[in-house]
Amino acid sequence: MGFSTRQIHAGVTPDPTTGSIVTPIYQTTTYVQDSVDEYLAKGYSYSRSANPTVRALELKLAELEAGQDCTCYATGMAAINAVFLAYLNAGDHCIISDVAYGGTYRLATKIYSRFGVQFSFVDTSDPAAVESALRDNTRLVLTETPANPTLKLTDLAAISRITQARGIPHAVDNTFLTPYYQQPLKLGADLSIHSTTKYFDGHNATVGGAVVAATAEHDDRLRFVQNATGTIMSPQVAFLTMQGCKTLSVRLDRQSANAQAVAEFLESHPKISRVCYPGLASFPQSDLARSQASGFGAMLWCEVEGGLPAGKALMDRIKLWTLAENLGSVESLITHPATMTHADVEAAERDRVGITDGLVRLSTGLEDADDLIAALREALA
Ligand code: PLP
Repeated sequence: MGFSTRQIHAGVTPDPTTGSIVTPIYQTTTYVQDSVDEYLAKGYSYSRSANPTVRALELKLAELEAGQDCTCYATGMAAINAVFLAYLNAGDHCIISDVAYGGTYRLATKIYSRFGVQFSFVDTSDPAAVESALRDNTRLVLTETPANPTLKLTDLAAISRITQARGIPHAVDNTFLTPYYQQPLKLGADLSIHSTTKYFDGHNATVGGAVVAATAEHDDRLRFVQNATGTIMSPQVAFLTMQGCKTLSVRLDRQSANAQAVAEFLESHPKISRVCYPGLASFPQSDLARSQASGFGAMLWCEVEGGLPAGKALMDRIKLWTLAENLGSVESLITHPATMTHADVEAAERDRVGITDGLVRLSTGLEDADDLIAALREALA
């Protein structure tokens, strides 16, 4: 069945007690066992280990991304942390895309490095650079594509060929495109990571994370970490995320169309020095954007003529667009990565990878494109 059918029906069965069409919020700590010998006969013992509402979302996400299974977490960072814990030991080495969400960089450099894990932040858009960064002790490659915030793309099939040849898991942060537009596991990756906070929820209501695994073996490792570290998603968040999932394709198509219209407007505006959006012909990796994904997404960025002060003035004055850290929601958001989402990436590292101080990140929502463009036109004037 098609994606839109599956996003509604996958993982969901009418509640066995009442017939409720919507999976209820199973707000419970523990589950009554019939006898010692029948422990776990109904599949549940304690809500840190598994919860029926969370499980329904896990099954839905696994099916949407053609995975073997899925584990859901308290946040997107908890999902990335689970991947690190599942695959990295003291003395191991991990390759991460040099442009990635600032929290991923912070977790690696400020926490895991304290425990003797080594990291290389590599330009994963260049498979040869990944090949030459591999060490004997490399145990994980984590790519993010399109990367937050510069939108640099990584060729997932090319990197998966390299990791498969070495027997190293390839994890992909697929938050920006979701399985609706990009299917990393079908391109050879082993794990697809999401901040469900973004497009899966889509309504600025929750924080959550997920990892879809290609094999039961990968999923087992992650489920062990999920239980052992206690980072499972809460049932309320799973419930809200599940409702968001049911409209994912509709929202993404409309939000992406808005992004295209906004990008074209900005590209034609004399006060904008640079616009980056995968749907523009000027996008540097246009061919890869078209071949690897079925849509361009709803994230773009620009630089305003006059640099940082002009960019700040735009973000402070604009109406309708909300100055905030999230992305992917029905509300259009505007963000300054250098001081907000990527503030914990050192200035020199930001410069090295192209996260300039003047970069203004835009996440287009579901408003009318004409209104979004009018608000930008007014603020730029
Ligand atoms: N991955 C990407 C690409 C993100 O943009 C974010 C958050 O902005 C995360 C992971 C972390 O997700 P969360 O904020 O849900 O912990």
